[in-house]
Amino acid sequence: MPAPDEFRADVLAIAAHRDDVEQTCGGTLLRMAARGLRTAILDLTQGEAGTRGTAADRAREAQEAARILGVGWRQALDFPDGAIANALENRVAIVRVLRRLRPRVVVLPYWQARHPDHSIVATLGYEACFLSGLKKIDTKGDPHRPFKIVYASLYADVRPTFVIDITPFIEVRHRALMAYKSQYANQTAGGGLFVPEEGIRERTFAEAGHYGLLAGVRYGEPFVQKEVGLVDDLTLVPVQSI
Ligand SMILES: [Zn+2]
Repeated sequence: MPAPDEFRADVLAIAAHRDDVEQTCGGTLLRMAARGLRTAILDLTQGEAGTRGTAADRAREAQEAARILGVGWRQALDFPDGAIANALENRVAIVRVLRRLRPRVVVLPYWQARHPDHSIVATLGYEACFLSGLKKIDTKGDPHRPFKIVYASLYADVRPTFVIDITPFIEVRHRALMAYKSQYANQTAGGGLFVPEEGIRERTFAEAGHYGLLAGVRYGEPFVQKEVGLVDDLTLVPVQSI
């Protein structure tokens, strides 16, 4: 891995909690890395509010998951777990990362979610991407605005704008999620609250199968984009055949 200060990302996934990315767009990051793109993950919290494990456990597990996902850079900020706020200081903290990594594409969680941290990160992340392009926001780094934001919508009840085929990567994605042993290995703590390990495989594969079906592949990850697409050549529009 290059020194953290020198790494530049093509695709940066920003998420509230360690293991969010593994669940919602880990297969996509694997696919992009396989295409030769430089991928990165910014987690916004350390995971101190989790029922299982400690923040230190999660930090170790997140690095192992990053290795499995083939990402070139992963760090966590220290926003309060369960109480992320869309505050100026938080936007600026993300701007510093955006200006350092200079991603072309940013992946954010979808803006409607059961967990309030997820929906706040959709707005907070968007605003940070915008501010990052403004010279007047002084962080000592050069301004940089990502070209595109896409929203990972796996847990939202919304029709995706597009799906990425993760069929060749789903087993590796599952291994990355299982790197969070403190969360997902079968154990007594939170036993009544958490789905057992075998159930996680079944559920995550079923979800990926559902989105794959929408796009005519075996396993997929769904995304929503807000902007209307601009088309140059109708024969190159990326749709499956009717
Ligand atoms: Zn989360």
